[in-house]
Amino acid sequence: MQVLSTVAAAQAGGCGSPGDDTDSDASSGSGTTGDTPTTGDTPTTGNTTGATTDSPQPELPGAPFTLGVASGDPLPDSVILWTRLAPTPGQPDGGMPDEVYAVAWELASDADFTDIVQSGTADAEPMWAHSLHVDVDGLEPDTWYWYRFTVGSFTSPAGRTRTTPAQDAKPERLRFATACCQDYTSGYYTPYQALIKEELDLVVFLGDYIYESAATGPVRSHANPEPMTLGEYRVRHALYKTDADLQAAHQRCPWAMIWDDHEVEDNYAGEHSKDDVPLAEWLARRAAAYQAYYEHMPLRLPPPSGPDYKMYHALRWGDLADFWLLDTRQYRSDQNCLDAPGMGCAGWQEYDGTLLGAEQEAWLDDELTASTAIWKLITQQIVFSTVDFNGSLVNFDQWDGYPLARQRILDLIANLQLANVVVLSGDIHLGGLGDLTALADDDESPVIAAEIVTTSISSDPNLPPGALETALDSLPLLKYINAHSRGYVSHELSRELYTVRCVIVDTALEPTSPAMIEREAYIDVGVPGFRPA
Ligand code: FE
Ligand code: CA
Repeated sequence: MQVLSTVAAAQAGGCGSPGDDTDSDASSGSGTTGDTPTTGDTPTTGNTTGATTDSPQPELPGAPFTLGVASGDPLPDSVILWTRLAPTPGQPDGGMPDEVYAVAWELASDADFTDIVQSGTADAEPMWAHSLHVDVDGLEPDTWYWYRFTVGSFTSPAGRTRTTPAQDAKPERLRFATACCQDYTSGYYTPYQALIKEELDLVVFLGDYIYESAATGPVRSHANPEPMTLGEYRVRHALYKTDADLQAAHQRCPWAMIWDDHEVEDNYAGEHSKDDVPLAEWLARRAAAYQAYYEHMPLRLPPPSGPDYKMYHALRWGDLADFWLLDTRQYRSDQNCLDAPGMGCAGWQEYDGTLLGAEQEAWLDDELTASTAIWKLITQQIVFSTVDFNGSLVNFDQWDGYPLARQRILDLIANLQLANVVVLSGDIHLGGLGDLTALADDDESPVIAAEIVTTSISSDPNLPPGALETALDSLPLLKYINAHSRGYVSHELSRELYTVRCVIVDTALEPTSPAMIEREAYIDVGVPGFRPA
């Protein structure tokens, strides 16, 4: 075991911390120096009306940047900057007047904002909960920037962000973290206290950003009842966004995000709610949840209208890595056997439900076929490996519940002889590393890929950890299991080696906690699966 700070210090180079002038990556922006304003406004994706910059806007009722700032979905020349004005986060409207506010934004090449690269104003509109999604383009590839917002006499905290390397670049290294499952009631977000000390280019969030339950947990309470309406989902998202550790993690680097079930409702499947409420009622709830999600995340997406919202997309890191960020919730068939008594369910191996839907599955096939990236990262929510214990304990919400759909992806990897495929997953509130074989139900078939399961930031384990670890330890393809710790996974990719560091905290039940790397594991380029210990 290794104490985290030791490893962070040992990682040479990198981006430094805000204000660290050894950060050579952030030397110049797009050629504009000084505080020369850019011509025209960069529109937010939520705009439908013109700015009201000519007429004085009403005074803000209080300090508006209670939810912090964030950035996301970087490209070689662009990144999305996010904030939301919410003087009173516990109210559906955030305590904001029913008015459009023009918010100024600045992007600088240094932490002190002495070299402003771009600036502009964007409208914060009541219909999008006064959220902003500023698409700043014309930026330099592979470059760090700092950004902040100003409205009235208030200036937001500064965030730090970066662009990806150029499409034809050959990067030597990428460092990112995967995180997921942050039930506000069951723990503090202590893993982020370690995460922000790492030199990361990106955080990839794998779902369960909020939980919709009404519950009070061991450390904190969801102050409002289970959300059903847009206003209630806004209040829930705002509660989560007030967390200081979460805000610090967003300020540290850009995020790429996908959702899972709890952003709407536990274990929902496409058009099927957990309790099978009438379709129109369910889709109205889904539309409300999707809109509130958009309003609170740094997404490169147009604002949603209605219950359908295509959010799966690719993110590329030069020729080093392709991420395919999937949506395994919105298009899936209803779970087979989920309510089967005793978990036994005859014939589950033949269930032909879809997890991705035909369109997304075809897109993923095309992307995998065309990819020339060294590392091919299938980035999604749920456990991909077979975990069936001879059929006695199957989680039908995972890929085990959709076995033919899973085998189609494995067949594609095998038939195309794709090297260096890694599946990233979360959802299950435990950490695990495992190999994937050509036939999902035959662990003697050739190893063709690897899976990295990220444990939860704060959510409780779903099952008693001790018994689960003992049972899982018997799976021949499993390399590592920890079902009792909260944490995240740190990934370091080079052109020859994929290094995985499973970071755990002592506790999420106290406001602060030490962290350590419990397991470090390696995947060598051209050799499928984990290097033997
Ligand atoms: Fe979860
Ligand atoms: Ca989940």
